Amino acid sequence: MDRKDQPMALRREPHVLVIGGTDSSGGAGLGRDIATIAALGVRTCLAVTAVTVQTHDALMAIHPVPPDCVADQMRAALVANEVAAIKIGMLASEQTIAAVAAVLRECPGIPAVLDPVLAASSGGSLLQTGTALKALKRDLIPLCDLVTPNLIELAMLADAASASNDDEIMRQGQGLLDSGARAVLVKGGHATGPLSTDILLCSSETPRRFDAPRLDKSMRGTGCMLASAIAGYLANASILEVSVRKGKQLVFEQLQKISPE
Ligand code: PLP
Repeated sequence: MDRKDQPMALRREPHVLVIGGTDSSGGAGLGRDIATIAALGVRTCLAVTAVTVQTHDALMAIHPVPPDCVADQMRAALVANEVAAIKIGMLASEQTIAAVAAVLRECPGIPAVLDPVLAASSGGSLLQTGTALKALKRDLIPLCDLVTPNLIELAMLADAASASNDDEIMRQGQGLLDSGARAVLVKGGHATGPLSTDILLCSSETPRRFDAPRLDKSMRGTGCMLASAIAGYLANASILEVSVRKGKQLVFEQLQKISPE
């Protein structure tokens, strides 16, 4: 159907604008984001930051999209649709971080969820090293309503060793709040113990814990899935805490469905 023939009502339905990279293996990235949000019955629109060449075991190539083109895609998606939440994944470079931040500043009322994707679960870096990490913290994180690091990403953002206990997690998470994040969800998937606990930190509120039994299963793209589901629930007007709880439940159910490796 030609876009101009798309019924007006459809364009006015809440959409999640998904910003990130493609993953040829289908395990993670935009494909995973779109599938997750579609399963919630929420529509998506896109801004592609990079095309990656990957199998499930190796990252072979990254072809970044020019930063101006990323910003143009975002602006076009925002004009075309009723964007009710934004989900940000792979950003590839400092220049793309700046381009995304510039567009976010133009639409401050839309909740944005940032999955600070630094490395591919197939191996290899998805964000340039050096100043890009600083730019992420300085320019983008303060514009986001929620940042969802795992323990490794949290440590890299905190420029510290990976947290091995609650106190260290709180200290590193607080550091992100101090640098302007409105809320931080620290994912405990890489920790050990019978429970997989994610901790939601918001300034001036008591940390909230979300527990699920730890499953002896792994799947690529669970970070993409969680942040996408949270953005999908936010787009459907759920509050942050409810969106996080439902998002975690969804990832747990998906993990339960797969057979052990
Ligand atoms: N985005 C892309 C394009 C990726 O390739 C990956 C991981 O390979 C991710 C995001 C993050 O994936 P995960 O949800 O496994 O952290």
